[in-house]
Amino acid sequence: MKETLTKQTLMETNTRLQLKTRYPLYINGKYVDSSSGQWFDTYNPATGEKIAVVAKANRADVDIAVTAARQALDGKWGRYSAARRAQVLNRIASLLRDRFDEICELEVYNSGKSLANAQGQVMQAIEDFELFAAAALVHEGSTKPVPNGFFNYTLKEPVGVCAQIIPWNYPLMMAAWKVAPALAAGCSVVLKPASLTPITAYVLADICQVAGLPEGVLNVVTGSGADIGAYLVEHPGVDKVAFTGETSTGKDIMARASQTLKRITLELGGKSPNIIFPDANFNAAIDGALFGIYYNTGQSCEARSRLFVHESIYDKFVQAFVEKANRLVMGNPLDVQTHMGAIISEAQVQVIDGYVQSALEAGARVVYGGKRPEGSEFAKGHWYMPTVIVDVTNDMKVAQEEIFGPVIVVVKFKDEKEAVKLANESVYGLAASIWTQDFGRAHRVAAQLKAGTVMINSPFSALPGLPFGGYKQSGFGRELAAESLELYTETKSVLAYIGEKPLNPFGV
Ligand code: NAD
Repeated sequence: MKETLTKQTLMETNTRLQLKTRYPLYINGKYVDSSSGQWFDTYNPATGEKIAVVAKANRADVDIAVTAARQALDGKWGRYSAARRAQVLNRIASLLRDRFDEICELEVYNSGKSLANAQGQVMQAIEDFELFAAAALVHEGSTKPVPNGFFNYTLKEPVGVCAQIIPWNYPLMMAAWKVAPALAAGCSVVLKPASLTPITAYVLADICQVAGLPEGVLNVVTGSGADIGAYLVEHPGVDKVAFTGETSTGKDIMARASQTLKRITLELGGKSPNIIFPDANFNAAIDGALFGIYYNTGQSCEARSRLFVHESIYDKFVQAFVEKANRLVMGNPLDVQTHMGAIISEAQVQVIDGYVQSALEAGARVVYGGKRPEGSEFAKGHWYMPTVIVDVTNDMKVAQEEIFGPVIVVVKFKDEKEAVKLANESVYGLAASIWTQDFGRAHRVAAQLKAGTVMINSPFSALPGLPFGGYKQSGFGRELAAESLELYTETKSVLAYIGEKPLNPFGV
C-alpha cells in the first residue's frame, strides 16, 4: 500500500475551508445555544485534532424544534404549492453547487474520508435535491372510477413533522437523502446528524435559509442519539421517523415508535455479497470488488464485504485482488490521489481489529492488511489497512456481522446454486454484486438474491432516481427514487356523491 507523499498538512491545504469554531443548534430559522449551555467537541479523524465545538441539545431543545416544525407546517410552508417547493429545492441544489469545493473539504475535515469520495457524495446530495424538485411536480393523486353517481379523487398530503436521524459515514449525502424528499412532499423536519460528523448538516441549514426555506421547516439538533434521538422517536409531536444507522438502533427505534404508531423508514446495516463466476471479465471483477469494499474506507452500508469466488479461479483471483489492494493509496484525505481516508474514530478502529482477531481465532488467514498502517503519516488519527481474509466459512462471525471497515472475507463456492445459498445466508439484505458474462445466469441469480439492490458487472449501488433500501434486517422503505415521496405523504381518498337524486341509504 502506498502512502501519499505530501509535506502539506490538512490545515495548510485548506484554502477554501469555512470552518467555524462553534456550531450552535439551528431551530426556527435561528442559530441558538442549547438550553443547557453544553457543548461537545468534534474532531478530524485523519489527525485526531479537535476542530470545533457543537451545541449539545437536550430534550427541552427538541421540544422547541418540534414545535417550530409544527408551526411551519401549519403556517405558510403548509400553503406552498408543489411548484414553489420545487423552486426552493432547486435553489438549495444551486447553492450547494456554488459552495461545492468548500463543502467537500468540510466533509473531509470532519469525516476523514478522501476528497474524491466526498466530491462524489456531495455531488449526489446536489442531484438528490434536483431529483426531488422534479418529483414534487409530478407527485399527484388520481381519480378512480366509482359507479352510481359517485366521484372519487385522492390527495397526497405531507405526513407531517419528520424526525430524520442519520449516521456518520455519508454525512451530507444522508442528510440530502432524507431532507430533500421530506421538503418536496411538504413536510417539516427535525434533523439529527451523527455526533461524530455534525458540521455539514449545519452548512445545509445555512443554505436552506439562504434559499428561502421558511423558518422552522428545517431544524438541526445535535446531541446524544440515546437521549435526544430516542426522545424524538417517542415524541408525540413527531409524525414520522426516517432513520439510517445500525440495525440494532433501528430495532430500538421500531419498538419506541410503535408506542405512537409513527410512520417509520429504516435504512440499516448490511453484509453484502459479491459473487465472482468463472466466466466473469477477470480484471473488471477485480477492480469492481476492490471498489465494492474499499470505497469510503469500507465504511459503507452497501460495502460488498463478502467475496464469493468460484473455486476454479479462487487462487488466481485472491492473488490479483491482493496485488491491487497493495496499490491503493491511503493517507492525506485532501490529496486527490488518495483512495482511502481515515477510519471515523479510535473506537471504530478497535471494532475492526477485534473482528480481524476473531477471524484468526476461528482459523481464517489474513493475506493482506489486518493492522494499522505504518509510517509517520499515520502516527495521528485513526487508520486501518485494507484487509483481506481467506479460509473463511460462512458461519464465522467475520462472515456474518457488519464490520463497517476495510475488511473483506473471501469464501469459495462450487456452483451457481451454492453461490446463491451462501450469499443469502445472512440476516442482512441490502445490496449484492454479480460478475459474469452469461446473460441468463446474471438475471437468474439476480432474481434469487435477497437484496434491495443487485448490480451486474458493476460496483455502483446508489444512484439518484433508483430505489435504494433493504430486505430482511437491512430495513424497509426505498429512498433515493421519485417513489420515495410516498414515504413522506399520506394518501387521502375523497369520495363525493354527485348524482341527481339525493341519497337515502336507509330508504326511510
Ligand atoms: P448508529 O445507529 O450508531 O447511529 C445513527 C444515528 O442514530 C446517529 O445520529 C445516532 O446519534 C442516532 N442514535 C443512536 N442511538 C439512538 C437511539 N436509541 N434512538 C434514536 N437515535 C439514535 O449508526 P452509525 O454508527 O452512525 O452508522 C453506521 C451504520 O449505519 C451502519 O450499520 C451502516 O450500515 C448504517 N448505514 C445504512 C445505510 C443504508 O442506507 N441502509 C446508509 C448508511 C449507513
